[in-house]
Formats: sequence, C-alpha cells, structure tokens
Amino acid sequence: MTTHAARPLRNADPAELAKFAALAHHWWDPEHEMFGTLHKINPLRLGWIEGVAGDVAGKRVVDVGCGGGILVEALAGRGAEVLGIDLGEKALGVARLHKLESGANVDYRLVAAEDLARERPASFDLVTCMEMLEHVPDPASTVAACAALARPGGTVVFATINRNPKSYVFAILGAEYVLRLLPRGTHDWSRFVRPAELAAHARRAGLDLVDTIGLVYNPFTRIFRLERGDLDVNYMAAFRRHA
Ligand code: SAH
Repeated sequence: MTTHAARPLRNADPAELAKFAALAHHWWDPEHEMFGTLHKINPLRLGWIEGVAGDVAGKRVVDVGCGGGILVEALAGRGAEVLGIDLGEKALGVARLHKLESGANVDYRLVAAEDLARERPASFDLVTCMEMLEHVPDPASTVAACAALARPGGTVVFATINRNPKSYVFAILGAEYVLRLLPRGTHDWSRFVRPAELAAHARRAGLDLVDTIGLVYNPFTRIFRLERGDLDVNYMAAFRRHA
C-alpha cells in the first residue's frame, strides 16, 4: 500500500480539473470562448453579491473554486480581503501571475473547501462559490464546507446551473453547440443543480436562504442580464449562516 492510498478521496473529479487545466493560460482573455463568458458576467455577479452581502470593503472573503481569480480580483478591487482556493494548480499559477501584474491584494491556496473548512472554520464574512458546484462529484459536501467556512451571520453565495429540459437546450445545446459561448464538453447536464436541491443542501448545512436571481442570456443582443424569478438556466443563490 502506498502512502497515497491512505488519503481520503477528495470531492473532486480529475477529468473536470483536467478540462480547466488544459485551458488555464486563457483565464484572463476576455474574448476566450469559455472564460470570456465569466468576464462578461463578472460585473453582474459582483453587483448582486454586494447587494446581498452589503459593502465588502474590509470583509474577509473566500472564493471557492476561484479559477484564475476573476471574481477574487473584482472583490479585492472593492476593498475585500480575499483568499481564492481551487484544486487546479495551473489556474492558481495564472491567478498568482495576474496578481503580480494587477497588484491586487489577494491570496491563493491549493486546498479543498472541505480541508480549509476543517482548518479555518467560521472564519469568513463572505463565502463565494461560483460556477463550480456543477463540476464536483458531491455538491452537498461543497455546500457544507462553504457553510462551515462562513462565520455565524456570514453570507454564502453560489452560482450554478439548473437541471431541466430548458437548461439542456440553453446551457448545453445552445451555449456549447450553437452560440459557442462555451467549448463543447464544458458541462455535463446530469451534474447541474436544481435550486431546490441547492436549498436543501444549504438548509442541512445550517444556511438560511436570503435571495435568488437568474442570469439570463439574450442570444440576439448577446448580453447577459439579471432576471428576478427566472432560475431556469443560470442562477445565483445567497444564504446566511445561522447566528
Ligand atoms: N469560480 C470561478 C471559476 C469557475 S470555473 C469563476 O466563476 O470565475 C470552475 C472552477 O472550479 C475551475 O477553476 C476548476 O479548477 C474548479 N474546480 C473544479 N472542481 C473543483 C474541486 N473539486 N475543488 C475545487 N475547485 C474545483
């Protein structure tokens, strides 16, 4: 038996991590097929997060599944003290390089949310976990880890994709095959997370639902907008940890 065999399995899918690793050098390319979409939605999600969490200046924030640091740097730009974590080594390498360029005051660590939650429980005013739940084998475990990272009264925000026939048509066929908003194979529909499932995981982890919002793409204007009440495809949900 090797020493590795004794290590508990992490809540991570190597194939998913490899997919992001292969594209890692494109993280900060606003025109890139996959990451360009994240750059486009970033101001919308930042604004919504500030709406639910309040002013983030001076707050301790952890961004779980931070990738190249698109949201991390935006939050730091608003004065937050941000730690970005991911299991993608290459993404973190790009994030660290970009931080040198931008001078952003942020930290990055290669650590699983579950491990950081054990190491630093209840340490963050705000926990964000965007577009990651649909890439992990056990989203409930990630939700529980995010809840454990938040201090009592802290805010936890998730962004993910709903699972229904419409999301198959829009998020897989439309986004990956017709509009080419994302490279083919970016998403596995069966891993998408229904709002009720997310809310149930969150409730079990001691989180109260605060608000939800849809992120809707108009293929004609090629513009994303926030749409209250339309959680059919991309959506965000904010929770507060029990005080
Ligand atoms: N949250 C960022 C990046 C989203 S892309 C943003 O919205 O801008 C999804 C990210 O999740 C990738 O960086 C990938 O490496 C990461 N990821 C996938 N599975 C993971 C896991 N099990 N643990 C941590 N990060 C993971």
